[in-house]
Amino acid sequence: MDRHSQKLVVRNIGLMLSGMLEHPILDADCIVAVDGKIAAIGFEKDLDTDGATTTVDAHGVTLAPGLIDSHVHPVIGDYTPRQQQLHWIDSTLHGGVTTMISAGEVHLPGRPKDVVGLKAMAIASQRWYENFRPSGVKVHAGAPILEEGMVEQDFKDLADAGVKLLGEVGLGTVKDGKTARQMVGWARKYGIQSTIHTGGPSIPGSGLIDADMVLETGADVIGHINGGHSALPDDQIICLCENCSKGLEIVHNGNERAAVLTLNTARELKQLNRVILGTDGPAGSGVQPLGILRMVSMLSAFGNVPAEQAFCFATGNTARERGLDCGILAHGRSADFVLMDQAQHAPGKNILESVQLGNLPGIGMTIIDGVICSHRSRNTPPAQRLPQEVTA
Ligand SMILES: [Zn+2]
Repeated sequence: MDRHSQKLVVRNIGLMLSGMLEHPILDADCIVAVDGKIAAIGFEKDLDTDGATTTVDAHGVTLAPGLIDSHVHPVIGDYTPRQQQLHWIDSTLHGGVTTMISAGEVHLPGRPKDVVGLKAMAIASQRWYENFRPSGVKVHAGAPILEEGMVEQDFKDLADAGVKLLGEVGLGTVKDGKTARQMVGWARKYGIQSTIHTGGPSIPGSGLIDADMVLETGADVIGHINGGHSALPDDQIICLCENCSKGLEIVHNGNERAAVLTLNTARELKQLNRVILGTDGPAGSGVQPLGILRMVSMLSAFGNVPAEQAFCFATGNTARERGLDCGILAHGRSADFVLMDQAQHAPGKNILESVQLGNLPGIGMTIIDGVICSHRSRNTPPAQRLPQEVTA
């Protein structure tokens, strides 16, 4: 470690959630990060904690990877015209989310739909969120919507310019599986990941995408398999789970019954690793600062999933499906954390039981790239205990 390095030590951690379904709880009480990456995990007595530039005493609370929202629709900075909301990303950070993935910047008033215009906007969106992290949150954006007339060279141009995501397939003029499949193939060839809108129309002007179109298109992630808002019939949801190996994205802005059906089907297939979570916010149902936490507790409660596994849906699973270096507590990964505790007066003998009973935890701190980004959440119920930054 050179003398300009930043070293973070978080000690007295009561419970450490790994983000990994196979072993969701780590036997450790301390984590060390150097220059934004996890350097060591273990017991404080065994770790080199000297020379820390930031020390956090967790006071026995739980530390998990920062939550990932797999499905958002940002536009610019921390403003969304969709519900005229300012600071919705900051509010979401207070819900434990440290990374967001754009499913298309569709709410921009006057969004260009000609090919040169949509490419320019995607590149600009990618840049402005790369250059500016609202309240520290990592927003992966610049996700163009497929429109008729795009050719292979357009995908190469986008990839060369740094675009890594497609917006939800089906939101533009490309509405047939054959054309969508060809474009998703071009995107994949140049390293651009794809997501497809699934289910009924979201708002006036959008359309139905059924299981046949999802399967024919073959996008990398089945976006909001529980609908956004209207879900497909049960047999089509089960068909999607059974007949492809793509990510199964469940969103807050969808049908909760269909969410539980998806979860139960994935479990029967022994494929809970495919389940990832998003909010789809800002959407018709508003912005959802606690949306990811609410999905974790809802699925844990109604899907009978241990809370420590449900947190993996919002962390390690998403990181793997999306190719991100956060979401898992392991050496070399991004030091993006959420510290939380059982909410005051919430039933349950500990935080995990409390979440599985359907309650939200109280968030006490978020950390992104080894830097403290927020303290006690203004949005969650108050936690029993709070972590504290201590001066050396
Ligand atoms: Zn959608």
